[in-house]
Amino acid sequence: MTLLSVQNLRAYYQTQAYGISRTVRAVDGISFDLLPNEVYGVAGESSCGKTTLIKVISGNAKPPLKVLEGSVNYTFGERTVDMLRISQSELRRNVRWKQISYVMQGSMSVLNPVRKVIKTFQDIVDTHEHIKNKNEFLERTRTHINRLGLPAEVLNAYPHQLSGGMRQRVAIALATVFQPALIIADEPTTALDVVVQRGVLQMIRDIQAMSSNTVLLVTHDMAVHANVADRVMIMYAGRIAEEAPTESIFNAPLHPYTQHLINSLPVIGEKSTKASLKGSPPNLADPPSGCRFHPRCPFVMDECRTVVPDLVSVKERHRVACHLVKEDSL
Ligand code: SF4
Repeated sequence: MTLLSVQNLRAYYQTQAYGISRTVRAVDGISFDLLPNEVYGVAGESSCGKTTLIKVISGNAKPPLKVLEGSVNYTFGERTVDMLRISQSELRRNVRWKQISYVMQGSMSVLNPVRKVIKTFQDIVDTHEHIKNKNEFLERTRTHINRLGLPAEVLNAYPHQLSGGMRQRVAIALATVFQPALIIADEPTTALDVVVQRGVLQMIRDIQAMSSNTVLLVTHDMAVHANVADRVMIMYAGRIAEEAPTESIFNAPLHPYTQHLINSLPVIGEKSTKASLKGSPPNLADPPSGCRFHPRCPFVMDECRTVVPDLVSVKERHRVACHLVKEDSL
């Protein structure tokens, strides 16, 4: 049983200016499933296609981003939703906020600076459910806020009266007010200090445990994945490099890029300098042939320059795209 099934998804940015066409292959043949009741992490450096992937699976792909191929299907209880064919009105009425909510980068700014927090809750709830009984709405909102460990007083505050961490937690509370089946959190802890970061991550974990929903957590910060995710997908240049349960990703990474990410993590007491990866992320308007990681890979072989490695299963729920790793090899 899956909550989301993504098959062979290709989503490119296609632009035309001064007679020059440009295609950026941001998501290039990605397949993965999300299971109910899991925290699924997506990691990778900037411009690897993480945010584009989120845009497509949340129904927010707008030109110049175009989906060229593939499928994105959700199962919400008895109902299935084809995200690439659903109408905008249906998406607005029955899917956004109610089934899928989105905590975006810098979501603190979703709060209206000139309205009290309770008014923002009111705007959102009224748009989707038409509040008939104001007292009932207030009671429900207070219960939700308390359940997430936030003081009821935040509802009567203006955003500028709250700390950055508290604003982020309020934004998460807002995104979960309808108890959606899927919460997509895009870099939810960026720009927060480590102590506040910990509180926000704990809140995400608590919500997931209380409501048994699925969280898709996108961040370049591997330490965050280590703390929160059940499974992790490593993206590189628009493709999946590796996907595995978090323990396998951190204890036995198989793809050279994943190994680099794990080896770069600081270790308490270690004083030696970490080796950096040569080169820079590829230009997705003109990506390298074969394995896209080959110009930077310390183990590159001849076939890596011409043949795209398949994403193969090496054991249950562990998939790797590298010519060094063979199917069911473990
Ligand atoms: Fe490195 Fe080749 Fe594996 Fe790509 S396929 S990660 S270049 S060894």
